[in-house]
Amino acid sequence: MPVGEFDLIDRIRARARTRGDVVLGIGDDAALLQPQPGCELVVTADTLNVGVHFLEDTAPEDIGWKSLAVNLSDLAAMGASPSWCTLALALPQSDPAWLDGFIGGFLELAQSAGIALVGGDTTRGPLSISVTAMGQAPAGRAIRRSGAQVGDDLWVTGTPGDACSALHAIWAGVVPDPALRRRMNRPTPRNAAGLALVGLANSCVDISDGLLGDLGHICKASGVGAEVMLEQLPASRALSRFAPAVRWPWQASGGDDYELCFSAPAAQREAIVQAMAGAQTQATLIGRIVQGQGVIALDGDGQPWNSGRPSFQHFS
Ligand code: ADP
Ligand code: MG
Repeated sequence: MPVGEFDLIDRIRARARTRGDVVLGIGDDAALLQPQPGCELVVTADTLNVGVHFLEDTAPEDIGWKSLAVNLSDLAAMGASPSWCTLALALPQSDPAWLDGFIGGFLELAQSAGIALVGGDTTRGPLSISVTAMGQAPAGRAIRRSGAQVGDDLWVTGTPGDACSALHAIWAGVVPDPALRRRMNRPTPRNAAGLALVGLANSCVDISDGLLGDLGHICKASGVGAEVMLEQLPASRALSRFAPAVRWPWQASGGDDYELCFSAPAAQREAIVQAMAGAQTQATLIGRIVQGQGVIALDGDGQPWNSGRPSFQHFS
């Protein structure tokens, strides 16, 4: 049975957990939040639209999870500690069962990341989900795209390419490997890794639009170039069944991977290994920052490789 806007909000409010620094959460005209003294507020927003960011038949639990995950990933890339979020929902109809599933997936991730849902908006319209996530970082310490230095090592977390390979299977009418499909529907934001990189990494970006393209943002912001060794790209067990020529385009420019690409001085190599072990996150050395501009991907023979595929951009 359809219910009204305020009933939907009540269903969300009843399940949302709070935090000690939420002075006033869901229920008033606005939330009141108490940032830590000496911290900068780190704010990011991302919208998910049906058909663009997820397939029509995606489970509501997965849509909920992913809509928060993509925002947590941006906080991770800045080295910020996740604190609070808001959720603006446009729903085609008031469907309590769908909402319960959606909010279940959203709050499952929120709880494990320690982020509190403190407000939002609920309206009628084509299905669209906008999340604003707020984090905190000690003043001056957040990791930017602009800090890469010539000579830095280049690293990537996790195993990029999994989500994109699952999407390609679906487009081809094939049932994807369940492990790969899960990477597409339930990405793991790398918040522990991002926090552990503060003071170690010179630059960081999350590779939601594809590794090479997003690394290009670091290069542009830092005024440097980058070399990526394709043979060093980590492949998950499920993805390594594909030949390099098939999987490299997914790994290098697939997108929808919520992993971190970061640069750090070569002298920090051992410290990075320790930090990533502490964050229980796989991190792999994939190349280096060089003089010049732009990203060059090198194949096993050290020859420049062209995927023939730019990173994802809306409107193009
Ligand atoms: P207003 O009309 O003053 O903006 P609303 O009636 O839209 O307030 O919302 C009432 C309360 O419920 C507010 O605290 C708002 O932040 C919260 N809220 C509305 N929609 C959501 C949502 N989708 N998720 C979380 N909180 C929500
Ligand atoms: Mg109001």
